[in-house]
Amino acid sequence: MGRYVYDFTQGGRDMAGLLGSKGANLAEMTRLGLPVPPGFTVTTEACRAYLDTGGEPAGLWREISAHLTAVETAAGRLLGQPDDPLLLSVRSGARFSMPGMMETILDIGLNDESVLGLAKVSGNDRFAWDSYRRLLQMFGSTVMGVDSAHFERALTDLKDARGVPDDVHLTADDLAGLVATFQELIRQETGEYFPQAPAEQLRRAVLAVFESWNGERARLYRRREHIADDLGTAVNVQRMVFGNLGPDSGSGVAFTRDPATGRPGLYGDYLPDAQGEDVVAGIRNTVPLTELERLDPRSHTRLRAHMETLERHYRDLCDIEFTIERGTLWMLQTRVGKRTAEAAFAIAAELADEGLITPDETLARVGGEQLARLMFPRFDTSRTGDPLAHGLPASPGAAVGAAVFDSAEAARRASAGEKVVLVRQETTPDDLPGMIAAQAVLTSRGGKTSHAAVVARGMGKVCVCGAEELSVDIEARRFTTPDGTVVEEGTVVSVDGSTGLVYAGSVPLTDSAVIRFLENGSTDEDATGLVDAVARVLARADTVRRLEVRANADTPEDAARARRFGAQGIGLCRTEHMFLGERRKLVEAMILARDEAERAEALGALLPLQRQDFTGILEAMDGLPVTIRLIDPPLHEFLPDRTDLAVRMATAEARGALPDPRDTELLDAVNRMHEENPMLGLRGVRLGLVVPGLVAMQVRAIAEAVVRRTKAGGSPRAEIMVPLVGAVEELRIEREEVERVLAEVSQESGIAVHCPVGTMIELPRAALTAGRIAQEAEFFSFGTNDLTQTTWGFSRDDVEAAFFSAYLDKGIFTTSPFETLDRDGVGRLVRIAVDEGRAARPDLKIGVCGEHGGDPDSVHFFHTAGLDYVSCSPFRVPVARLEAGRAAL
Ligand code: ADP
Ligand code: MG
Ligand code: MG
Repeated sequence: MGRYVYDFTQGGRDMAGLLGSKGANLAEMTRLGLPVPPGFTVTTEACRAYLDTGGEPAGLWREISAHLTAVETAAGRLLGQPDDPLLLSVRSGARFSMPGMMETILDIGLNDESVLGLAKVSGNDRFAWDSYRRLLQMFGSTVMGVDSAHFERALTDLKDARGVPDDVHLTADDLAGLVATFQELIRQETGEYFPQAPAEQLRRAVLAVFESWNGERARLYRRREHIADDLGTAVNVQRMVFGNLGPDSGSGVAFTRDPATGRPGLYGDYLPDAQGEDVVAGIRNTVPLTELERLDPRSHTRLRAHMETLERHYRDLCDIEFTIERGTLWMLQTRVGKRTAEAAFAIAAELADEGLITPDETLARVGGEQLARLMFPRFDTSRTGDPLAHGLPASPGAAVGAAVFDSAEAARRASAGEKVVLVRQETTPDDLPGMIAAQAVLTSRGGKTSHAAVVARGMGKVCVCGAEELSVDIEARRFTTPDGTVVEEGTVVSVDGSTGLVYAGSVPLTDSAVIRFLENGSTDEDATGLVDAVARVLARADTVRRLEVRANADTPEDAARARRFGAQGIGLCRTEHMFLGERRKLVEAMILARDEAERAEALGALLPLQRQDFTGILEAMDGLPVTIRLIDPPLHEFLPDRTDLAVRMATAEARGALPDPRDTELLDAVNRMHEENPMLGLRGVRLGLVVPGLVAMQVRAIAEAVVRRTKAGGSPRAEIMVPLVGAVEELRIEREEVERVLAEVSQESGIAVHCPVGTMIELPRAALTAGRIAQEAEFFSFGTNDLTQTTWGFSRDDVEAAFFSAYLDKGIFTTSPFETLDRDGVGRLVRIAVDEGRAARPDLKIGVCGEHGGDPDSVHFFHTAGLDYVSCSPFRVPVARLEAGRAAL
């Protein structure tokens, strides 16, 4: 039979799923012998049962009554007893802390009679009436559904009438009057009297807390924090203690260390003569905890001792809520406290030094996203004004620069030494030079995996995307905010990629010490502790991880940086990025070639350039594997836009000029190559199979680079990767061509060039026929971006803006499958391909080179799935190292 209620003496911290984290920790403190007001917890299971059926679970009230009797017996008085009432708090508390998101009702048990008893035994009329009006207010709004604004208005009216600034100045009579007003208000609004029976108050309060799980605020919070909707909340019922009984009482919150920096030592706020809710409400000014030492040294000493007990017991930073009732200290809540990324590292290292946690636990205490946050420069948040715009925080960090509206202008100003922010509606590969030149990218459209976001993250560049409230006018070179502020080209703006906020002017920056350390091993004076903590954690991760970490890099500079960040090779070198800019004309010439000779000439011009690229990259990664992917995107991406071209020709015609014959030729080619679904069209291996000479040129460039590096005394380890294979036959034919060229170059140079040939697994068919494909492939690399697109049938460039937010709202997924690998679907294909690939070829090397390679959750999946390595952008390499280590714990 289901058991729905646990006394605080019966639970413990490992029961958070059932008792909620607040309940589990109240029980833990009780077991530790700390002074916790007695009480009991109604389980999340009871909540789920209630929410499922809409009715009170059978037997629940009987269990609650029995536990209530125990609390009453211990206190020697009854709930709401007229001459000396026991009062209760009814507190929500879910598995994952959702601060302030659900309801708490204090002072249950007061009614028209017991308020008089409370006044008498406490000797404090004002306190009794104030408690009663609080109950009416909380119960009236939370349980009975009266708009809380009504109560606040009545309170304000009373204060105005009395001419006092805050409720502390209201007298007992004032508050007794307010109680009458509130009761009348409840009756008017609901047609019902406030329930005088204490048991009924309790019963209804418990059910109302259950209901609050589905309140709008709570749902929204869960969505944002990726907390499941079906967990339910527990309800803690606890004897009230009173911080508002006079100057020898009070309430406070405290941390065992500074949650911002991790520095040891009590840290917190105290408010004399107040209930806990007043501390956070900010009605009166709190005093620092050190002040309590002067006000009540005995309680302060006890508090310190309890907090030390808690930190040693939990072996982590704890935060607590406490109340002092007439000189007696009570602990009302504790949990392992939230902290900044910096504090997370500092605390983990320090607890290890204190011998409280092992090196593995130290690693478990920090996360890749926290490390990422430490790697970016930040704004000094105390010095920002109101934001100009809100967008999606797509790539973290802080950047300041003059707003510019196209790639050319960005490049022009940047080369003159100016810092710029590239503002676009959205970006395309054409904007790449501008993105490289810019400090940050700001777009008004697109999600967190839009082109702008992905590319910016890859470059470690700040990006805010999808700032839909901005109207970006590229022609007029300005954007306009909803309140009508116009930002012209050249105006300086500050972009915070960690929060998604954009500010006018230049917000001062703080540099990241961690990035300087990772880049060149240098340590800032004021960050030795932090840098040391990061270094230790990474060293531990490197010791325990099984996954190798490679980088996605297309230039010698990126390769070198990735190597400094700890990359063990390149998992994806995209050759098409080498065809942009100046070289685009050469690709165009190749596409437009009318005969073999012209094509050979164009390819011949590309060859030395590619060879030079590969030589530089192989040099930067000397001794480590470099996986070079043969050309992947559809060729028309290298041709001008069809509409632009047509407009240009029409304009020429309108002027009476003859169209440029080259334009005519281009338009023909563009029309010929136009595809409705280019991502599913002539690209990847398909290009290599139908465009003569292209693959041969690329392979020759790779092989000749290997020869050069070998002759220069290096150890080049190029690997050749064929994209978008769906059938083993495609790979077999392509591979023959690759081997032919390698043999040719070996013969010409006298140096035997061996390059492993492998394939990307990025189509469901490739995953499903991986056993056969492995016969021709020496390695697999999962292209999880395309694999996600083709498995879900989502066009990444279209779906995010179109309906992902609706999908997230409806709970179809809690994170975009382009950010975190979809384990059930795409992950299943990955597992099939790993199993069948290895069965066919036991020494098959398997990695992943999609965006997911740097995503913490996905890295854990790849570890479990048995991959050999993950590959990600250079700036994610330390993150992947860390997470690969944590996955191996
Ligand atoms: P939250 O989850 O929003 O922090 P709590 O359940 O902690 O909500 O309750 C809010 C406040 O109510 C607490 O800060 C505490 O000061 C006060 N409170 C709760 N239970 C009691 C109690 N038994 N005695 C006195 N105050 C209480
Ligand atoms: Mg609390
Ligand atoms: Mg791909």
